[in-house]
Amino acid sequence: RQVLLDVEDLVVEYGVDEPVRAVDHVSLRVRRGEFVGIVGESGCGKSTLLYAIARLLSPPARIVSGTVDFNGHHMVELTEDELRHIRWRDYSVVMQSAMNALNPVLSIGAQLRDAIAAHEKVSAATMRTRAEEVLRLVGIDPIHLSSYPHQLSGGMRQRAMIAMALVFRPDLVIMDEPTSALDVVAQRSLMRRVKQLQEEFGFAVLFVTHDMSLVSHYSDRLAIMYAGQLVELGPTSEVFAQARHPYSVGLLQAFPSLRGPRRELTGIPGSPPDLRHPPAGCRFQARCPQVMDVCRQEPATYQVGRAELVRCHLYAPSRRTPEPVEPR
Ligand code: SF4
Ligand code: MG
Repeated sequence: RQVLLDVEDLVVEYGVDEPVRAVDHVSLRVRRGEFVGIVGESGCGKSTLLYAIARLLSPPARIVSGTVDFNGHHMVELTEDELRHIRWRDYSVVMQSAMNALNPVLSIGAQLRDAIAAHEKVSAATMRTRAEEVLRLVGIDPIHLSSYPHQLSGGMRQRAMIAMALVFRPDLVIMDEPTSALDVVAQRSLMRRVKQLQEEFGFAVLFVTHDMSLVSHYSDRLAIMYAGQLVELGPTSEVFAQARHPYSVGLLQAFPSLRGPRRELTGIPGSPPDLRHPPAGCRFQARCPQVMDVCRQEPATYQVGRAELVRCHLYAPSRRTPEPVEPR
């Protein structure tokens, strides 16, 4: 499949005096129609990465270096004007809390109409039809066109946000924990709907969550982030069958499997490093059960089996095939 989004060596920092590198040389590709999940603990940089790609970062966060090629657009270089042209139409963003993203003083219908009017000159009647259509797509009765955000349940608000994100049938929908505020039942039904719509319309999804069970069901490929870096990237089935990075292994143990037998929630002891002063070498070393002397040096990334990237010294070719010791 054709590459739709190509992120190369992206670096994002917060602050000036003592900058925090929230995203550290991340490279990631999303193909047309693909569902890519990004997981990691809070503070690992996963949301910052999404907002950088969508060009929705606000100061003091800024892109320091790297490129984001989206469908031929060099996202990092686009002006606000150029961005307005393609945002919502070619790519859209669904945020964690629709309460923050929706305008509280406008009805859902008015917000949908504004979104449509910003990109297309169509009659009021056409606009109304489009707005009704897109609400139905996400399972909301069009009667709610006249509802205000606070009159809807949390699940309905998230659905309304997704309706907005789909008005123009974009190629890419970027989602930041869109279901994290919902109960499990609402979460599952919303995710099933998103997946059905994705299959129907063929858009790609870049999806951030801290919930491994969600990505295990819906994503084709999985990226695991730790302390601003990608530590593992590969097909979801591969990561779940055989996680390679010790952090990925820990994450999988920390989340109970929905399919297999229930495992105990273990969690990963310790906490991520302070990104103002990250340790030299591997960032996971203080929590890693397999830490070695060499981990004080920065690990390279390796392709291991079907995993495209694993950032860990355990997978250095020299360790995989030990060199014979020379006799004295
Ligand atoms: Fe653990 Fe070392 Fe691999 Fe880091 S590089 S994850 S400390 S084994
Ligand atoms: Mg977040």
